[in-house]
Amino acid sequence: MSLSADSGHPIQLYLAQPRGFCAGVVRAIEIVERALEKYGPPVYVRHEIVHNKYVVESLKNKGAIFVEDLSEVPPLAVTVFSAHGVARSVEKEATERGLPVLNATCPLVTKVHNQGKLYVSRGRTVILIGHAGHPEVEGTMGQVPGPVILVQSVEDVTALTLTRDTPVAYITQTTLSVDDTKHIIVALRAKFTDIQGPDIRDICYATQNRQSAVRDLSKLVDVILVVGAANSSNSNRLREIGTEAGVASYLIADGSELNPDWLRDARAVGITAGASAPEVLVDDVIEALRRIRPVTVSVLPGREENIEFRLPAELAAS
Ligand code: SF4
Repeated sequence: MSLSADSGHPIQLYLAQPRGFCAGVVRAIEIVERALEKYGPPVYVRHEIVHNKYVVESLKNKGAIFVEDLSEVPPLAVTVFSAHGVARSVEKEATERGLPVLNATCPLVTKVHNQGKLYVSRGRTVILIGHAGHPEVEGTMGQVPGPVILVQSVEDVTALTLTRDTPVAYITQTTLSVDDTKHIIVALRAKFTDIQGPDIRDICYATQNRQSAVRDLSKLVDVILVVGAANSSNSNRLREIGTEAGVASYLIADGSELNPDWLRDARAVGITAGASAPEVLVDDVIEALRRIRPVTVSVLPGREENIEFRLPAELAAS
């Protein structure tokens, strides 16, 4: 595939607002950067700090080393837990090994952990709505000190064998589609007589805002490009929402993945970016578009975000 200039009609490009980095991702990246400044390289990071190759490669170049298992971390090396959170067994292993840990778990993920712990302490069986195998889900399941049942769909709810009067409570992965989650919660509420759960609005603010913005975008455009990594949960949800709205939607890591065939009949194109995708990659996609057609760019009005999360105390003053 080559991106050749095309004399076809110009493209009106709309940028979703908000898009890209959320406060949890900004904080997680800053933790690694400040740790590198304060302690010097290498700093070990368990799992990709956020799901974006560009971000990970940039931090690698500054001296971060990414591992999947703490056994790969040498004794006493500074270790960062990723934004997705970790199970208690991982925290325990780090403590037993005396590793100096900086926890970059997003505070909104920690909030879900705390909700789960509270429900278990009240004698409820916890049902986690999320995607199997996602590190946030593994972390949450490993943080709640009691049985946690994972459901991924309404069908999974139908298949649950708990009795109707079992005291249950649900919690949710932070980056799901609000709509999908709503259907699963409705099914859970219909199935169980004694059920508690947080308000649907408790799904993270960044997830909600980016999903609302892509819905607004879908009313204006013929094609939606979601900038984000293939393993980024929230980016995949954005692409799904575009598709559900009837707009051809594609998830791309950067401009090199743009396929000119997608734009053949398009007059209006929308771009958004997942919460872990930096703006430099959005710019890269815009440049790739410009190599195909003349482009006029408009930024849609959207919700303003002013949320910032505090850094760990040991890094805040550095
Ligand atoms: S998407 Fe939400 S939960 Fe995830 S890191 Fe960002 S702010 Fe935190």
